[in-house]
Amino acid sequence: MGIVSTPVIAYEVKGIVPAGSKGPTVIPLVIAVPKELAPGEQRVATVPEVVKKLTNSGYEVRIEHDAGTNSYYPDDLFTAAGAKIAYSRAELLDGARIVLRVQPPTVADIDQFAEGTIVIGFMNPTNNLEAIARMRDRKVTAFALEFVPRITRAQSMDALSSQATAGGYVAAIMGADNCPKFLPMLTTAAGTIRPATVLILGAGVAGLMAIATTKRLGAIVEAYDVRRAAGEQVRSLGAKFLELEINAEGQGGYARELTPEEKAQEQLMVSAAVARADIVITTAAIPGRKAPILITRETVTTMRPGAVIVDLAAESGGNCELTQAGRTVKENEVTIIGPQNLPARVPFHSSQMYAKNLQSFLALLVDKDGALVREFTDEILLASILVHAGTVHHGATRDLLSGGKI
Ligand code: NAD
Repeated sequence: MGIVSTPVIAYEVKGIVPAGSKGPTVIPLVIAVPKELAPGEQRVATVPEVVKKLTNSGYEVRIEHDAGTNSYYPDDLFTAAGAKIAYSRAELLDGARIVLRVQPPTVADIDQFAEGTIVIGFMNPTNNLEAIARMRDRKVTAFALEFVPRITRAQSMDALSSQATAGGYVAAIMGADNCPKFLPMLTTAAGTIRPATVLILGAGVAGLMAIATTKRLGAIVEAYDVRRAAGEQVRSLGAKFLELEINAEGQGGYARELTPEEKAQEQLMVSAAVARADIVITTAAIPGRKAPILITRETVTTMRPGAVIVDLAAESGGNCELTQAGRTVKENEVTIIGPQNLPARVPFHSSQMYAKNLQSFLALLVDKDGALVREFTDEILLASILVHAGTVHHGATRDLLSGGKI
């Protein structure tokens, strides 16, 4: 993960401290929050509740006009919380020290940042090498929230988890919405309805949320994960855990890749479960790699007519061989949904959780007087620092950049 073991010198300039603190000067630290412009992005990096806390601590918070409109946080709520509304990018960024974002900045965005600006958000480095090179060259500092380590102390900053929670919820609702059946069992004057069967493949954060949501809707829920440790969590939600006699827990709680024999065994068991499900929600991922194929074209032909697959791994290649990212396809009377950016479909709460993650992360960047730290020594900062003062600190990204001669 490219953790830098020695401290990174952050700032040698003294005196940038929030108003009201006892620091040498009282220039408020300006935090800027731009409107997200990526297609389909409805979230915003902060919400009025968090702005209130930041302004009370002495920061100046600037919000780009309309930044929260798509997530139902209008400008006037931000103003009431103490933020200033900026009507242009230039006004937003003038003197801003910290920029909070959801999606990575584009090259055009970066060209508007002053040297030394700190940008915090998802950086998706593998797909954003050009932007990272630009941040390096313009001496912009970037922290990538996807690299925040999954240690207990960092739980409140774990944006991958907060957004996966939203994704798992939406996937369950989408599955139910596209299913021609009721999910609960019903005993009515018009007859008895059997409950639908839901299968969740991958019981990480998103998978567990999908289990909890479909259980609440009354379905019979089965789940499978290569990590045996997930079994206990699955069962605690009232779902059945499908067992395979292997344990593929790798480093840091993530899954390792399976051997070919293990893959064949897994495939047989998963295929049988897929064939009896009305809704299959797949979330299986291995960080930094293409998603594993768990549902082949042949398996789809064994599925019930009207069955639905919601493939949460669509953006990293899909867990179903037939998934097309960003599209819904029908094959053999099975609906296969390849959604992208599901958290953006519940932008009000996704933004709220994300904003809290950022608020916790920001606390690492200031000392007890509210001044920017002079050295990045905290292990969470060292793990998540992507680029700073002209150097790319994330090893894998640095290799990709030098490999591509960027
Ligand atoms: P993820 O998005 O990387 O992957 C989703 C799930 O897919 C994982 O549970 C993984 O084991 C599973 N998977 C991978 N290959 C599979 C296959 N072939 N078949 C079936 N399942 C497969 O995972 P995530 O949701 O980000 O969570 C990863 C782990 O980290 C989990 O154990 C989670 O509980 C843990 N976690 C810990 C903390 C913390 O301690 N602070 C926070 C969040 C998550």
